[in-house]
Amino acid sequence: MFQKKDLPSVLFLALLIFIIVLTLCQILVVHRHDQRGYHLSKNQQLAQRKKMYHEMIGNYNFKKYKNIAKIEVFRRRIKSVIIMLSEQNNGMNIANDNGDVSAVIPTVREDDSMTLCDRVPPKLVGEISVQTCDTACRLESRLAVESGGYWKPATCISRHRVLIVIPFRDRWRHLTILLHNLVGMLQRQQLEFRILVAEQFGNATFNKGRLMNAAFLEAKKRFRFHCVIFHDVDLVPENDRNLYSCPWQPTHLSVAVDEMHYRLKYELLVGGVLAITSEHFQLVNGYSNEYWGWGAEDDDMAYRILLSGLRIMRPSAVVARYRMLRHEKREPSAWSSRTRLLKSVNKRFQMDGLINVPYRLVFSKDKPLFMHMMVDVGLPKEHDS
Ligand code: UDP
Ligand code: MN
Repeated sequence: MFQKKDLPSVLFLALLIFIIVLTLCQILVVHRHDQRGYHLSKNQQLAQRKKMYHEMIGNYNFKKYKNIAKIEVFRRRIKSVIIMLSEQNNGMNIANDNGDVSAVIPTVREDDSMTLCDRVPPKLVGEISVQTCDTACRLESRLAVESGGYWKPATCISRHRVLIVIPFRDRWRHLTILLHNLVGMLQRQQLEFRILVAEQFGNATFNKGRLMNAAFLEAKKRFRFHCVIFHDVDLVPENDRNLYSCPWQPTHLSVAVDEMHYRLKYELLVGGVLAITSEHFQLVNGYSNEYWGWGAEDDDMAYRILLSGLRIMRPSAVVARYRMLRHEKREPSAWSSRTRLLKSVNKRFQMDGLINVPYRLVFSKDKPLFMHMMVDVGLPKEHDS
């Protein structure tokens, strides 16, 4: 019969059975719960989750978190269409032989005795020490650029005809410094180029998008070029291996800026210096005309690029380095109007841009180092300024 000495083993057995039963119960419960979830419709599952969150953390803002999740998915998707060029070729963004690049090689050779310039310009020096020339730079005497800011190599046919557009108002010191540093670099890169400074007329709020669109259209009437580089006046390149040649996809060149500790601020950034072929610029319908004051017209452009099925390329941060010249920060435009515009870019971009930019060319003059266009881009509606 049952003896006292058996007590520990009986107790142990009972405990074992208890644990087994408990585990089985748990498995059963979890399984049933899964099954129940499986058979529920999507809406029922959503309602159930909401209820659960509500019980757990009170008033859970479901819509807000759903939106965050959506943004995250979008961010991941765009990550896959942004290309960071590899560190090959010293990090240089040399156009490759595939795809659209043949379109940027001049098909008509003006002079048969000349050959195309080398794909990799032979006289690059790499790092450039930025000249801030506080005592006036005597540029004209030093740089052999034709009046109106045009230049092409004398000994070979350039592979790229580049239009540099600098949106501008009231930053003459910066312009002098930029040109002083830029012209020599473009010459070493053996580019055929034209520098166009588009100045906004009057004192109304700045509208960079309209200025750049107007400059492109006016330049198209006058010159032949394969691509445009939109260039802030206060960003001075620090390395001539960052090539200003025509890219097969829109290329953001100002990757690493000293002011931002040489780090890219965010993945979608295309502001500062952007190179894009004329075809692509027309495909995305240029910049939006609706951004007044500081901010977001460049983000709008990034969306236009992606929505048009193009990609954003970037040279390596090793070469795409810039010094930012100091200036007072402009007042940001109203956050609400910026986000309203950015949210509607997919519906708006084909109707708002190059095709309907309102502007009047006040004058255009050849200066020793650039073509100067004064452009009236109109006034903001009251709530836009
Ligand atoms: N800009 C200008 N004058 C102005 C405002 C802007 O010439 O009053 C041009 C200039 O090319 C400048 C660019 O627009 O580099 C971007 O403006 P800003 O430098 O004020 O903005 P950031 O990008 O530095 O915040
Ligand atoms: Mn600036």
